[in-house]
Amino acid sequence: MSDATGVAVCGTCPRRCRIENGRFGACRARRAEGGRVVAANYGRIASAALDPVEKKPLAFFRPGSFVLSVGSYGCNLRCPFCQNDGISQHGGDEVACRTATPAELAGLAERLREERGNIGIAYTYNEPLVGWEFVRDCAREVRARGMANILVSNGCASGEVVAELAPLVDAANIDIKGPSQEYYDWVGGDFASVCRTVETLHAAGCHVEATTLVVPGRNDKDADMDAIAAFIASVSPDIPLHVTRFFPRWRMADASPTPVATIRRLADVARGRLRRVLAGNCP
Ligand code: SF4
Repeated sequence: MSDATGVAVCGTCPRRCRIENGRFGACRARRAEGGRVVAANYGRIASAALDPVEKKPLAFFRPGSFVLSVGSYGCNLRCPFCQNDGISQHGGDEVACRTATPAELAGLAERLREERGNIGIAYTYNEPLVGWEFVRDCAREVRARGMANILVSNGCASGEVVAELAPLVDAANIDIKGPSQEYYDWVGGDFASVCRTVETLHAAGCHVEATTLVVPGRNDKDADMDAIAAFIASVSPDIPLHVTRFFPRWRMADASPTPVATIRRLADVARGRLRRVLAGNCP
């Protein structure tokens, strides 16, 4: 889509970047070419590993199994505490990638099923929805092989993108980073879109879990967690919530990690509304 001046407009996420020909959008994964926006990171694999499904994190979807986890580069958010900034906050020229077609990746997933018990593909590490076309095409190939698709996302995408992918996704972990648009203003996102993504995936029958990373001084009040849990409970009180610790990274490299006691306290707050709450990455 392009506007009256010929500048391409991206509809993949709420930023709705206006991109001049040859330039990248804010996520550094999508580029304008010939008046339309394309995924420049299509088929570009920056990271791949066979991970325990619990590492996604998913605690209640085929526990004990392994999933081929793949990621590219780019992200539409700017969380100062990004735990994966090496691939999420850089563009293609700065990230070493190998290339793969959807059929090649699904074929690898299938071979790993025979050899290592792999259950499918997890789209993760960077923000997969900024390259949603590759997720869609891989997901179709994976489904055709009788395997599972797992989406690990910040959920900040347009309703159209999520609606197209939802029938292809078996399980998802969606970040609910904070309780309000005020918090999402800090990380460069859109709270309403994230909520809609959770609702859409759940309504489509996808197994949904959520993650809240607790950043000291930012979203560590009881009222913050209660608001997050209240939203999740409004979709379903059975959606599992992972309450996880922040560790110093990227633009918050000088901050202190979230105290374990804070995580345990907030997990208890969330248990007031939700049946399955996990205190993640705590000793
Ligand atoms: S997906 Fe990327 S290019 Fe598209 S609107 Fe979002 S940040 Fe901009």
